[in-house]
Amino acid sequence: MSTHADCIFCKIIAGQIPSKKVYEDEELLAFHDIRPAAPVHVLVVPKTHIVNLQGVGAEHHALLGRMLGKADEIAALAGCRPGAEGGFRVVINNGADGGQEVYHLHMHIMGGPRPWRAG
Ligand code: 5GP
Ligand code: ZN
Repeated sequence: MSTHADCIFCKIIAGQIPSKKVYEDEELLAFHDIRPAAPVHVLVVPKTHIVNLQGVGAEHHALLGRMLGKADEIAALAGCRPGAEGGFRVVINNGADGGQEVYHLHMHIMGGPRPWRAG
């Protein structure tokens, strides 16, 4: 498992910084965003330190697929409503032009009753 000493999300994964956990398994952690931009706003991170989608290697493709595949289950655990009436948005910001603030890959899951708007 790759970690980065100065990475805030690696510290959350290690339990050195508290978070409100939604889901955890051997590869992934999901926790509530500290500054929610929607009624439900969860971050899903791989436990291994991957910077972002730029230059991501083939060794991580299965993990990335799993993150997307778990989105619906994690969204439901966090309180997103199921079915076509409910739903959620998935966002991954990459690099400066992509608006990335934390350089440990994370998938935003945003949902809850509208109206709400996230950047
Ligand atoms: P980015 O712009 O990099 O895609 O988003 C980073 C997200 O991480 C932001 O939505 C921000 O609110 C969230 N965040 C930053 N620091 C912390 C923290 O210490 N705890 C939690 N739970 N979220 C954080
Ligand atoms: Zn990290």
